[in-house]
Amino acid sequence: MNKMFCFQCEQTAMSTGCTGNAGVCGKKSDTANLQDKLTGALIGLACAVKKSSATATTDKLMLSGLFTTITNVNFNNETINELTEEITKEKVKLSNTCLDYDMQNLWNDQEDIRSLKSLILFGLRGVAAYAYHAMVLGYKDEQVNNFFYEGMSAISDSNATVESLLPLVLRTGEINLTCMALLDRANTDSFGIPVPTTVPLTVEKGPFIVITGHDLYDLKLLLEQTANKGINIYTHGEMLPAHAYPELKKYPHLKGNFGTAWQNQQKEFDNLPAPILFTTNCLMPVRPSYADRVFTTEVVSYPEIVHIGENKDFTPVIDKALALGGYTEDTEFTGINGGNTVTTGFGHGTILGVADKVVSAVKTGAIKHFFLVGGCDGAKTGRNYYTDFVKQTPPDSIILTLACGKYRFNDLDLGTIGGLPRIMDMGQCNDAYGAIKVAVALSEAFNCTVNELPLSFILSWYEQKAVCILLTLLHLGVKNIYLGPTLPAFLSPNILKFLVENYNISPISTPEKDLKKILG
Ligand code: SF4
Ligand code: SF4
Repeated sequence: MNKMFCFQCEQTAMSTGCTGNAGVCGKKSDTANLQDKLTGALIGLACAVKKSSATATTDKLMLSGLFTTITNVNFNNETINELTEEITKEKVKLSNTCLDYDMQNLWNDQEDIRSLKSLILFGLRGVAAYAYHAMVLGYKDEQVNNFFYEGMSAISDSNATVESLLPLVLRTGEINLTCMALLDRANTDSFGIPVPTTVPLTVEKGPFIVITGHDLYDLKLLLEQTANKGINIYTHGEMLPAHAYPELKKYPHLKGNFGTAWQNQQKEFDNLPAPILFTTNCLMPVRPSYADRVFTTEVVSYPEIVHIGENKDFTPVIDKALALGGYTEDTEFTGINGGNTVTTGFGHGTILGVADKVVSAVKTGAIKHFFLVGGCDGAKTGRNYYTDFVKQTPPDSIILTLACGKYRFNDLDLGTIGGLPRIMDMGQCNDAYGAIKVAVALSEAFNCTVNELPLSFILSWYEQKAVCILLTLLHLGVKNIYLGPTLPAFLSPNILKFLVENYNISPISTPEKDLKKILG
């Protein structure tokens, strides 16, 4: 019998599922089983909500529970157990007739049903992360919150059919669009409209803190608590786009970005003379060489690592930064292609602000094609496809990018077209919302559908937030997506056939072949 079963991310063992003592991500079998138990409790909670209405506490538990089970978020049995107990208490408070669901029923279901229910479950985990970030900033949407209960109930529906589940899969994508719009509003209302910003990769001498993940509110609190203390702040991973928000960039000690892609953290944090604060996912098993300087907050948790609780008192992180002292000299780092700065801040506000320039560049032929090269990064060697693809795009094309995958090429200088840089970073993975807004605006300007635009989606996926974004694109009817580096293990042959026949999704091949296919 399997010790665990998990196939929710791209790096799953043998591209089929992690089943042994630990997953490829380092999640141990006991933790995986506790996460299944937690998910089963959430499905029980969804049942209870049908009998008695959800409260703000119920909603928060649903979001926290789903977010906790995302890849690379929580490796801590203790906090997973505590959360499961809280969920069970809430369930009993709402109704004492709902049983928790045994996830083995899902993992052993008929393969097409398992595939569709997995798409819903993993998609909901992604949506929950975005809804959680919006909630922290005081933004919520009833329609989004209500759908978590509907979607989770469908997982335990033993009468569900392919026909009943398919619309729910697409509805998950639709709800994610609403949720990404909510988070976009939360971020821009709170921190302003992002502006194009060049971010140095050099770390200045003296004490500093590295902050990673998506949570801009945590960054703001950290910036406030470190003001005038002689400590500089460096972003990492998905926190890079924070530099573009006026209400964050106004802090003079927000200095630059440290490190390349998230999967290089074990090497890059090795003996770092600074603490690292994890605000969301992409936490890899912590190595002893830097374990004393890792801090977590919100739903991120790792055994024996100091956790900053709801009071958001970052004093332990600040004290650690002062004790470690940082580098004694300014220390230069580069991106993976040797560049020593990166740019960000080309959100939909900026790009649509120069829409007339973009439209006229297309009309004059200065811009012939747009590529959205975005999504996740990861450890697989095949992911250099994305660097090579970008390098080989013709000089009359624009690369829009977002999310973690951009670290493969965001330090390249590919020049400009009509004053616009050829590579434009639109932000975090949730800023896929901005890319969709730009695509829709272009289609309106050219009086055609998004599928008829000279625009190609070259996506990389890794974890569950990428799943909900993919479902959003399918909900919008976007076709001809190139997806890599490998296809999800949870797509059964029949469901994959459906996606290929209806949406013409293709696995990536080589940059040369794919560019030829796209550009003719
Ligand atoms: S999250 Fe990914 S790597 Fe980790 S156990 Fe699950 S499938 Fe395996
Ligand atoms: S881009 Fe992918 S790997 Fe990075 S945070 Fe988003 S979903 Fe996770």
